[in-house]
Amino acid sequence: MRIAVLALAVAAVALSSPLIAQADQPLSAGQRFAQDAIIVDTHIDAPSLLLRNWNDLGLDTPKVEFDYPRARQGGLDVAFMSIYTSPAEDAAGTATQTAHTQIDAVEAMVGRRPDQFAVLRSPKDLERLHQRGQRVLLALGMENGAPIGDDLSRLKLFHARGVRYITLAHSEDNRISDSSYDMHRKWKGLSPFGEQVVDEMNRLGIMVDVSHLSDDAVRDVLARSKAPVIASHSGLRHFTPGFERNLSDELAKAVAAKGGVVQVVFGNAFVDPASAADTQPISTPAPSSNRNRPRRARAATSRAAKTNSTTPGRRRIRRARSRSMRCSIRSITASSCLAPIMSASARTSTASAVPCPKGSSRSPTIRT
Ligand SMILES: [Zn+2]
Repeated sequence: MRIAVLALAVAAVALSSPLIAQADQPLSAGQRFAQDAIIVDTHIDAPSLLLRNWNDLGLDTPKVEFDYPRARQGGLDVAFMSIYTSPAEDAAGTATQTAHTQIDAVEAMVGRRPDQFAVLRSPKDLERLHQRGQRVLLALGMENGAPIGDDLSRLKLFHARGVRYITLAHSEDNRISDSSYDMHRKWKGLSPFGEQVVDEMNRLGIMVDVSHLSDDAVRDVLARSKAPVIASHSGLRHFTPGFERNLSDELAKAVAAKGGVVQVVFGNAFVDPASAADTQPISTPAPSSNRNRPRRARAATSRAAKTNSTTPGRRRIRRARSRSMRCSIRSITASSCLAPIMSASARTSTASAVPCPKGSSRSPTIRT
């Protein structure tokens, strides 16, 4: 049976994949579905982890969230590698170099395992590179437009290297856009430079990703972009009232009306009102910007929740993640071969549904 699916994944075609299962165990309906559909996960935080600690992701690598054996077992076909840089790296002027190095890491992974991985740059290449499910195809998505700096020509270079979407901002307002997590709202939406960035992304064929943006910025992007836009990893605010990191019904419908897609996240704060309430910033803007804070504080911003650590509300973001999201992230990855499907774009279920397994490791690098 051939199936095209649009749920957690976006697919235009369906291909037959080899059925990976124990020879003596028939596949369940869910496993057959996963193997028959083309499943695309639009946000996997592998490249930054590879830079910190290289792992051969062609082999079982249970300490991280993504590896080839689990991806194929779960039926994952296209995995967007998140080329992530933090506001701290932006402030330090190292974001561009970090982004290039993460792309280098993805290319190294493909170079070492060409039978298992290939870089996907166009939907036209999917069937040829996929090789009937033998390979997991790696597309590139950039989380945070910081590596662009103030130089639009870098967009062309990153496009040439394979970047096919850019999340305009992350946890803090940047040159391009306001962030939903940052209460300063420097631009009240998209900046003038951000408008040029959207125009150039449209011209080059890089998808504009509105995840992480403030509501005003999402509206500005929808009004400015000539092409459909995506939310690569966002939940629906209907289930988490007041949590701006998730999309309102109005904005989700507006993304759909423009031909775009919202890729759903299952992290606690994205689906559980109590976790969301404990995660969202509730304070007024701090008197000074993150860039003026001590280096140690900026690093904490990057590692934990990419948030300003000087205000009570933002401390709450970090606390919520450390005590619940990491647990659920670990547990579902460890507990299910369907994790790549369920985690399309982020990860997890709620902690109550999937308790932390005993001895599960806590990653210091979870990002949302
Ligand atoms: Zn994110």
